Amino acid sequence: MIERVQDHLWRIEVPLPDNPLRSINSYVIESDSRNLIIDTGLDREECLDAILAGLAEVGVDLERTDFFVTHMHADHSALVPKLARESSKIFFNRPDAEVFEGVSPWETILEYAGRNGFPEDELRAALENHPGYKHGVVKIPDFTFLDDGDLLEAGDYSFRCVQTPGHTKGHTCLYEPDKKILFSGDHILIDITPNIQCWRDGMNPLGEYLASLDKVRALDIDLVLPGHRRFIQNCTERIDQLKQHHDRRADEILSVLSEGTKNAYEIAGSMSWDLDYASWDLFPVAQKWFATGEAIAHLRWLEERGEVFTETEANTVTFSREC
Ligand SMILES: [Zn+2]
Repeated sequence: MIERVQDHLWRIEVPLPDNPLRSINSYVIESDSRNLIIDTGLDREECLDAILAGLAEVGVDLERTDFFVTHMHADHSALVPKLARESSKIFFNRPDAEVFEGVSPWETILEYAGRNGFPEDELRAALENHPGYKHGVVKIPDFTFLDDGDLLEAGDYSFRCVQTPGHTKGHTCLYEPDKKILFSGDHILIDITPNIQCWRDGMNPLGEYLASLDKVRALDIDLVLPGHRRFIQNCTERIDQLKQHHDRRADEILSVLSEGTKNAYEIAGSMSWDLDYASWDLFPVAQKWFATGEAIAHLRWLEERGEVFTETEANTVTFSREC
């Protein structure tokens, strides 16, 4: 599926098989010199076929094309090495690239999950089901790094990079101040709430995410072009909804903790989730994984605010409302 958004700007809908997100939006900016493709798809045949069909329809020559990747997640980044040519620049952010290059980050994450109550036998299964593990980038390409505030020119479009940490550490949006459009990646989505997870010590991704929402809220934006689903016309309204959502989730966690001390896995199991399973035990492991990561993100944020306290004993982390 391909759609013309504005002059020289196209959206290609790239399917994501077996993924609740259903598809990803890949955007193409055509120009007489270099074209720019913003986000791509998973390293899967179905994604490659869809994007190549779309590019053929627009008449994009990959020899004259550069790439911008909003963040490290495989559905946005993994297809880039298949599409990039020798002359292609791949614009990316440094914090996410450091995660790519990290030594076996999955092992660190598994260890952290174990400490937060995730059962050992479910851990391996969770990893093997994780789309980032199954269809992630195998070979890390050579990136051209862009920092917050850097400029990126593509045809008639003059973008400013707006780094929006939260969904990932280096997530970056592209803002066009004259056209008042924002390519939001997974920072702002409609119908679904961008997933904010925490799988590492000493991090507060939800705190960063909420600050990044305020940063974008201050921009003059008429149209948000997100990484998934429909375009967003009213950016500030959507941002306010997202902030309210996280306030509600934090309140829910505080009420779960009023029952007593729990680990993150137990807390996630006591929260309400928008899924059709009779109980937490029946959740597929991959869903338990996302839920627990999200619970930890809220717990870390509440901890920073002094509303929740952690205790580490015998390599197990628990949370309570009293210190
Ligand atoms: Zn993502």
